[in-house]
Amino acid sequence: MTSPGTLIVLTGPSGVGKGTLLKQLHQLCPDLYLAISATTRSPRAGEVEGQHYYFLTREQFQACIAQNQLLEWAEYAGNFYGTLREPVMDQIQQGHTVILEIELAGARQIRQKIPEAFQIFVRPPSVAALESRLRGRGQDAEAAIARRLDQAKIELAAADEFDFQLVNDDFDTALEQLKAKVLSL
Ligand code: 5GP
Repeated sequence: MTSPGTLIVLTGPSGVGKGTLLKQLHQLCPDLYLAISATTRSPRAGEVEGQHYYFLTREQFQACIAQNQLLEWAEYAGNFYGTLREPVMDQIQQGHTVILEIELAGARQIRQKIPEAFQIFVRPPSVAALESRLRGRGQDAEAAIARRLDQAKIELAAADEFDFQLVNDDFDTALEQLKAKVLSL
């Protein structure tokens, strides 16, 4: 019998670089399983169905909730996001380390349901740095950026709830810290 794998939650404000950190970490540690979430947000340029997200209509997302297919879900900046239960639980049962890149409300749901999950929070060097990153990546409209910044302040205030925090100031240092922590679990 394989012993179950570890579940890791990675949270941090939009624009902090969670996605880039995880992409690089996955290249260094290809055995890690990065869960693919469902969302009602529209795809951004370059985002691929089933690779970055499963892009669902609101009706499809509601059906997933009704059928209890989501391990956690939350509304974030006007869209729904959720983790599909089955692929995540399958990977854990097979002994793999699974990482969920999710926002604060979802992280809190996982803390309730799976207290043994290890929770990591990624901080920006400052709110001003986060704002310039959000604008600089040019992916979101002004109103969406403002919503994400408001949400960022709420998320930063909750950072102490997490088991481990790291600051994404120098990218390579942050990546090294993340890798060391993940491999130590
Ligand atoms: P974005 O629209 O920038 O891709 O994601 C917005 C926020 O939703 C990010 O903080 C991201 O981590 C979070 N998110 C992505 N997938 C999920 C999910 O499955 N559940 C929850 N709760 N949040 C998610």
